[in-house]
Amino acid sequence: MTEEKQRLEALIAQSRRIVFFGGAGVSTESGIPDFRSQDGLYNQQWAWPPEEILSHDFFFSHTAEFFRFYREKMLVKAAPGAAHLRLAALEAEGKLTAVITQNIDGLHTDAGSRRVYELHGSVRRNHCLSCGAAYGLELLENTAGIPRCPACGGLVKPNVVLYGEGLDSEVLAGSIAALRAADLLIVGGTSLAVYPAAGLLRYYDGGPLVVINRTPTPADRLADLVIRTPIGQTLAPV
Ligand SMILES: [Zn+2]
Repeated sequence: MTEEKQRLEALIAQSRRIVFFGGAGVSTESGIPDFRSQDGLYNQQWAWPPEEILSHDFFFSHTAEFFRFYREKMLVKAAPGAAHLRLAALEAEGKLTAVITQNIDGLHTDAGSRRVYELHGSVRRNHCLSCGAAYGLELLENTAGIPRCPACGGLVKPNVVLYGEGLDSEVLAGSIAALRAADLLIVGGTSLAVYPAAGLLRYYDGGPLVVINRTPTPADRLADLVIRTPIGQTLAPV
């Protein structure tokens, strides 16, 4: 075990109200691509940058193109990785109070985590813009093109926070309460580039801060421990 891993495990052992704040890096190890990575394939297939396609205005002005991208890039089958599983285990042991994630893939829930604040929503939930009916992932899996409400024919929208939309106030309030009560904050798999989500960290002032990310983040200078090894390997049980 590396010295960094020993220090991380010592911090986990002494803590009772751990909060994990994570991003895309937690899920890329499960095979979910980071949509921001612009590979050659991407550039050949899409005429807009992902941030534009995944925006509120684009959803309504280019709905078919939105769902072509969404179905191909966002609805990727994957299984939880070592990091998801360890976090669920820590919650079951009574040591971790919440996972706050910028991911929309639902993998923390699949791993068994119960208190998960999904800042950007989830691909698992959809709703009809006309009648409000709620639908699961199946509606998108079992249809093609633009999804329509089986009850009223209205346009169905994923419960995913698009660029240009605000975060859910209840999710925000829960995240803030968890951060305020935390005695250890582990930030992992995120470069903390996306606001307002990244700005939430200012609500934590309880104790040690650990950052696990391959590249530098704005939180590194405040951290007690910075780890650059892959997050699954870093969080895997000893
Ligand atoms: Zn409807």
